[in-house]
Amino acid sequence: MRRAMAEAEVGDEQYGEDPTITRLCARVCDLLGAEDAVFLPSGTMANEIAILVHCRPGDEIVADASAHIVHFEAGGPAALAGAMIRPIAGKRGIFTAADLAAAIRPESRYAPRTRLVEVEQTANLGGGTVWPLDQLRAVVATAHAHGLALHMDGARLMNAVVASGVPAAEYARGFDTVWLDFSKGLGCPVGAVLAGKRQHIAEAWRWKQRIGGALRQAGILGAACLYALDHHVERLAQDHANARMLADGIAALPGVAVEPVDTNIVFFDVAGTGKTGDAIARELARRGVRMGAMTATRMRAVTHLDVPAAAIPEVISALADVLRGRGS
Ligand SMILES: *Cc1c(COP(=O)(O)O)cnc(C)c1O
Repeated sequence: MRRAMAEAEVGDEQYGEDPTITRLCARVCDLLGAEDAVFLPSGTMANEIAILVHCRPGDEIVADASAHIVHFEAGGPAALAGAMIRPIAGKRGIFTAADLAAAIRPESRYAPRTRLVEVEQTANLGGGTVWPLDQLRAVVATAHAHGLALHMDGARLMNAVVASGVPAAEYARGFDTVWLDFSKGLGCPVGAVLAGKRQHIAEAWRWKQRIGGALRQAGILGAACLYALDHHVERLAQDHANARMLADGIAALPGVAVEPVDTNIVFFDVAGTGKTGDAIARELARRGVRMGAMTATRMRAVTHLDVPAAAIPEVISALADVLRGRGS
């Protein structure tokens, strides 16, 4: 990847003259069945720009209560677009068409205007959950029946594709905007591509310019993303296998309750161990293992290309030692 970056052909991205970024955007359009696409520095910027494109102040976004836009974007939808979020209490981060229908506001001068439906594929805090295609299609149909726009946070869309065998364009069908993150499982240092209808991407470019996301010789970054599409997609299956191995090992430890694993994210609850997630995370870090505590007792481990299969048994035994209260 570093070599591909060093050898990248570059130009001025703001002017549409960086050939590597142009190639990357065309490739993502093909992958997602989209009309147009724009390169962005991060997935957070992709979400926030999409919300700015779709929403006006006072509009409401329907999303699962666990969504990244709810928890991890520093209040961006409210601060930048003036939009509210109506959270749905879905299951494992995904919701049904009936859940959506119940959350859509009736036409009323008292209520915010429901404008946008946002889904995460896979659902991060849900557990790396893959939206089943039928369920997603039903949500899209319900949104369309109510004249709502649809946005997909595809930070881990390629994990869903590899886990299910469903092509990315099938998941993206019916969505106005969809983005892919290159800096998660795909293993790039920087980059996300937001794709969608031509008029939405034209508007996204205005926001990108306005908030200072337009770049110059970004081809060095685009080359990393192209490299990742060529070399880091199919190998996501290894991350998924590693996550299952990790989950099986953790499930055998006393006091730990492991959630189902769909892809590369393993959630487990440590309430039964008498320790807090933060304390366990600190002790694991001392042993060279990084995991996060997402609540007082719910922990999250993510497998990725820097975690070889051989490390999984070491992680399990480090966790076993921590839970037994052994010194490092
Ligand atoms: C990481 C993540 C983002 C944000 O992506 P960045 O590239 O880190 O800004 C958005 N949504 C989900 C579901 C994520 O996991």
